[in-house]
Amino acid sequence: MVQEKGTISIHTENIFPIIKKFLYSDNEIFLRELVSNAVDATQKVKRLAALGQMNGDLGDLTIKVEFDKEARTISITDKGIGMTAEEVKKYINQIAFSGATEFMEKFKEASDANEIIGRFGLGFYSAFMVADKVEIQTVSYQEGATPARWVCDGSTEFEISEGSRTERGTEVILYLNAESEEFLEKHRLQSILDKYAKFLPVPIQFGTKTETNEDGVDEKGAPKYSTTDVPNIINNTNPVWTKQPTELMDEDYLNFYRELYPMSEDPLFWIHLNVDYPFNLTGVLYFPKLKNDFEIQRNKIKLFSRQVFITDEVKDIVPEFLMLLHGVIDSPDIPLNVSRSFLQADSNVKKINNYITRKVADKLHELFKKDRKSYEEKWEDIGLFVKYGALSEEKFFEKAKDFVLLTNTSKEHFTLEEYKIRVKDFQTDKNDSTVYLYTVDAERQDGYISSANKKGYDVLVMNSPIDNHFMQHLEMKLEKVSFKRVDADVLDKIIQKEDAAGHKLTEEETTRIKEVFDKAIANPSMKVEVESLSDEEMPVTITMEEWMRRMKDMAKMGGGGMQFHGAFPDHYKVSINGNHSLVQRILTTEGEMQTALARQAFDLALLSQGMLKGADLTAFVERSVQTMSSQ
Ligand code: ADP
Repeated sequence: MVQEKGTISIHTENIFPIIKKFLYSDNEIFLRELVSNAVDATQKVKRLAALGQMNGDLGDLTIKVEFDKEARTISITDKGIGMTAEEVKKYINQIAFSGATEFMEKFKEASDANEIIGRFGLGFYSAFMVADKVEIQTVSYQEGATPARWVCDGSTEFEISEGSRTERGTEVILYLNAESEEFLEKHRLQSILDKYAKFLPVPIQFGTKTETNEDGVDEKGAPKYSTTDVPNIINNTNPVWTKQPTELMDEDYLNFYRELYPMSEDPLFWIHLNVDYPFNLTGVLYFPKLKNDFEIQRNKIKLFSRQVFITDEVKDIVPEFLMLLHGVIDSPDIPLNVSRSFLQADSNVKKINNYITRKVADKLHELFKKDRKSYEEKWEDIGLFVKYGALSEEKFFEKAKDFVLLTNTSKEHFTLEEYKIRVKDFQTDKNDSTVYLYTVDAERQDGYISSANKKGYDVLVMNSPIDNHFMQHLEMKLEKVSFKRVDADVLDKIIQKEDAAGHKLTEEETTRIKEVFDKAIANPSMKVEVESLSDEEMPVTITMEEWMRRMKDMAKMGGGGMQFHGAFPDHYKVSINGNHSLVQRILTTEGEMQTALARQAFDLALLSQGMLKGADLTAFVERSVQTMSSQ
């Protein structure tokens, strides 16, 4: 018997076709919405019981998600607070938005279903994205409540009558439409539940009616199963982030990580986030082993709201550099239903951002202070992250300057402060600027490095993809410090001291030796210069000025507003050490032998740079063999 018929109060002809049409791509979220409602109803009844405002047993509160291929239905059943017929009218019929006009205007800008559904309080109505008809059978927790039934066929017409449900709680039955067949496939439903419901706080049982055993209670009405051993439970109701850190062992965190990312290597360490004022946020962030790869690991942080999975697109919620981390953030205070630009401007989101940044910095600092050795061992994996953070977030740099490490060619690590002290005396030039020498490839630049070491200079290894930017940043931040690559010039020029080595060559000899080398090298991009270096330095050194190499690097990366993209001409300096005995010998040799010796000395310099290739290399080897056999 139909008790009442009526019209859902939306002031437009028919809103459902619109919902369906615009939300089609995201239509799987109907399940998230309905299961969330079931969870809410269950938690409400628990709260009432805890407050002593409900008579009778709570009983088994397991939520059921069942599907029936024959009948083409999906049903979501909870044992929550239920609704009276009055409440159904109030909560279900009166869609909570101010008017269809507003809706019609707003949905045009809305980019996804989350936005529309949340902003207009349409959670329940998302059911019509996949169903032709939706039925509610519900019994309120209130004593003597009569069961209510609500049916709606997706038009604005609904029907309320007395229902047939016997137990407290609500069953929502979806009669799927023809386009939504996919949701009758077990694995499809399973994967949606895995995505959204895996960590919901109330146990959820999933399967066909037979599998979930409709009759969950025995003859006496007592639950047949305790919540821990009900079959087909698909969720973990107590994930680590909902617990107190003091309750947890390392193994618990690791197991949770493995549950989230089954294919990944174990993380290095983690941070348990737990704050309830001025906003509510819990979560666990893990540091993966990053090494030097940067891109593939992003988008691994999952965002939840009260244990309901929302998204793994956290781009606007956490600072960019933190996206390299993995794990879970759960906050009911992140507005989920606003557009991305609103999100970034939201004051809670800003606070959350700052909070997470600070927590991460504090954790790193703590690890550094507590066990420096183990921190240094992890540096290879976290260095990229710390540098990236220092570059992109001023607040993070302020903290990170105490625990960001510089590593030299002997694999010793220094903080910025320590390094300054270490090199200040030797590597400060006559202008009082301290030069930090570095290499990008210690193997290839071994020649330069050992020359530097001989002079008592230290050389840093800067080989991560962002070190170029990082060094520039440090040059800005640190006073009177500049970075120079070991092959930026001859050492005496890179770090210019007052006492330049005396000149051994006359002006005439200088001109002559330059001509000899110009002829032997015969390459316009190699600019020969005769210099008076100490006799310990190599006879010939090939260098490229720091600024020029940086420009080249920038052009290669297409950045920095450079006009010349792509090929920036190579331009090297060839320094001839006028004080070296080999150069003296070349001066006194004549004819072809002179050119051959000069070429040989130049090729040796190329060789030590890894620049000797192809025909030049072959010629060099032949020339060497010849010279050796003729002696
Ligand atoms: P929201 O959940 O955002 O309030 P919904 O459209 O999903 O919006 O639901 C509207 C209201 O209907 C809920 O606030 C709740 O009062 C009621 N409701 C929905 N589902 C259930 C349920 N399973 N049990 C009890 N009440 C429910």
